[in-house]
Amino acid sequence: MLQRTFYFGLMTYHGETYEGKHKPLITKKLFDEVQKVLEKKYNRKPQKHDFAFTGFIKCKECDSFFTAEKHKKFYPKTRGEVWYTYYRCVKKKGICSQPYLREEEVENQLRDIVSSVSLSEVWANKLLEMAEKDGEKEKEFAVGELQKLSISLSDLEKKLDRLLESYLEEITDIESYQRKKDELLQTKKVLQEKITEIKTNGSSWLEPLKEFVKEATDAAKIARAKNNCKDLAFFAKKVGSNYFLNNKRLEFLPVPPYDLLAVSASTASPTSASLQMCRGWDSNP
Ligand SMILES: [Zn+2]
Repeated sequence: MLQRTFYFGLMTYHGETYEGKHKPLITKKLFDEVQKVLEKKYNRKPQKHDFAFTGFIKCKECDSFFTAEKHKKFYPKTRGEVWYTYYRCVKKKGICSQPYLREEEVENQLRDIVSSVSLSEVWANKLLEMAEKDGEKEKEFAVGELQKLSISLSDLEKKLDRLLESYLEEITDIESYQRKKDELLQTKKVLQEKITEIKTNGSSWLEPLKEFVKEATDAAKIARAKNNCKDLAFFAKKVGSNYFLNNKRLEFLPVPPYDLLAVSASTASPTSASLQMCRGWDSNP
């Protein structure tokens, strides 16, 4: 059902595409986005484990993934049985000297990473104010854009007419005719939707920018919150890629547009110092 073009306004009958007279339920843009999601969903491998930070962090030394496992420690006089989650390299490609580390050590570094690409509310508001002003300016340009689009649209109508003529005069065979017609009608939908979008929204960049600013302010909250490892991992994957552990230090590459916000993460951060101090914590509460 999610793959039927009918819902954005086209109809297929005996292999030929027609413009439906019905009111489309969704836009072609949304339809295309749904196709991308479907593709991802069906290519996804099933998850075996339930550890928050596995599946996206690799070992810098041997390029294997880091895996996690639970181990218990027993403190007879104080806390009794306590379970800890440890992360270690799976060493799939042979010998590797990288040490294992506690989940908290991964978590703290991820909090710093997410925090390093976040925006404060003050800056977010300033940015939004500037964006609104630019949006106003762009509205003026939109008029010219609309003109160009309507020219393209009328060119396309002419092409459709010529295609039909060449088919009726038996210059084009049925298969090429149907294929070309389908192609042209799809393009026509895209043009029509662009026109509608400009007429209703004006600038197409303004909404994504607002969304980005909102997410970047959310990042600050996610980094600060407690007991939210799954959310933290989700955000970390959103803002960065190429996560590598190298002697317990987590390295990453901020992805656009978050790279604009990333502070120099390669310099020694307070994390390494605080981790040094925390070492041995579990044996000396
Ligand atoms: Zn390794």
